[in-house]
Amino acid sequence: MLKYRIIPVTPFDQNCSLVWCDETMRGAVVDPGGDLDRVYAVMKEEGVTLDKILLTHAHIDHAGAAADLADEHSLPIVGPHKGDDYWIQGLPQQSKMFGFKEARIFEPAQWLQDGESVQVGNVTLSVLHCPGHTPGHVVFFDPVTKLAIVGDVLFNGSIGRTDFPGGDHATLIRSIKEKLFTLGGDVEFIPGHGPMSTFDYEMKTNPFVGGQWG
Ligand SMILES: [Zn+2]
Ligand SMILES: [Zn+2]
Repeated sequence: MLKYRIIPVTPFDQNCSLVWCDETMRGAVVDPGGDLDRVYAVMKEEGVTLDKILLTHAHIDHAGAAADLADEHSLPIVGPHKGDDYWIQGLPQQSKMFGFKEARIFEPAQWLQDGESVQVGNVTLSVLHCPGHTPGHVVFFDPVTKLAIVGDVLFNGSIGRTDFPGGDHATLIRSIKEKLFTLGGDVEFIPGHGPMSTFDYEMKTNPFVGGQWG
């Protein structure tokens, strides 16, 4: 079964996640934006061996330390969708702009597409392409534990920004309603920033996606 620990990293408190299969203790780091020492501490605590790095999208706070982590542990970088390649090429510039440690460009071992799956030990995560915040944003979903890792698509009470180059509000709303909410209201999700929530709670309360109580 899938287990996870959320590790806030970078000055943006980005929710990096360590996910792993509790049968094999093999795992992946989702969105290593920075502060790898914190990630390594949790890995050690949980006794997880890393197989890969997964990326939801290539903004600096999510992908800034992907190249370093890949090199230090000889890991393949899997994702995001190739629509985010221009963000990867722009990582050095992004790190300067936001005052982050210099981030390096990398080449993912595998770009992801909608409908594909990625393996974490014995756990199979579904890949959903959810553009809008960035063109190549993907979401990882475990149908067994009903957990989604949604990056900056949807937050508890909010949605991702669409004012960056390549962002599009209508596309983002469509991704949330057609790709995420159709997975079921009982799905719990880890957003890129802030506390966890469920799709049901967001459908009812999130004013950006039609919720009434916001
Ligand atoms: Zn982002
Ligand atoms: Zn973010």
